[in-house]
Amino acid sequence: MKFDISSLRQSPGKTLPFDFTEDLRVDEDSTMSHQIVGETRFHGQIHATGRGDELVLNGTVEGTIRSECTRCLAPVERNWTVPVQVSFSADRTAFVAEDEAKTTDYPDYPIRGSLVDLGAVGRDALLLAVPMQLLCRPDCAGYCPTCGQNLNDGTCNCEDVDDGGESPFDILKTLL
Ligand SMILES: [Zn+2]
Ligand SMILES: [Zn+2]
Repeated sequence: MKFDISSLRQSPGKTLPFDFTEDLRVDEDSTMSHQIVGETRFHGQIHATGRGDELVLNGTVEGTIRSECTRCLAPVERNWTVPVQVSFSADRTAFVAEDEAKTTDYPDYPIRGSLVDLGAVGRDALLLAVPMQLLCRPDCAGYCPTCGQNLNDGTCNCEDVDDGGESPFDILKTLL
């Protein structure tokens, strides 16, 4: 979504609200594990500070991320609400306003003419906010490393096999 900020330029103190809902999904052939699905809502406001040469965006992204469970690879789809704060500066680069966030790899957002790409800002904020490791449920049991059984579907017999026969502990048992 391209947003026209021309009325903010050279207008210190002025604030423009924005609110849009758009399909922000990345290309289908993207290799990213997290995919945006459905419509994403991005709303908030852009405020002109300084002499009107810096724009500060405060907003909220509400969207759905589809990924797979880190433990069992089951599909995981979850809604996320993410606060966003970025600045567009007059030198056509952007930075995150919060100091600690500047250490992250936050991308720069250019001002093209009098337009900023709020779709890119919202997409990045949503994808960056979601942890890389997602679980289908907090107590996901994952797969058995030995036989590959999905332990959410039921237990396997691997522990029984380990206990029977060849274990060195069996020798201890006989010695005792
Ligand atoms: Zn899982
Ligand atoms: Zn097993």
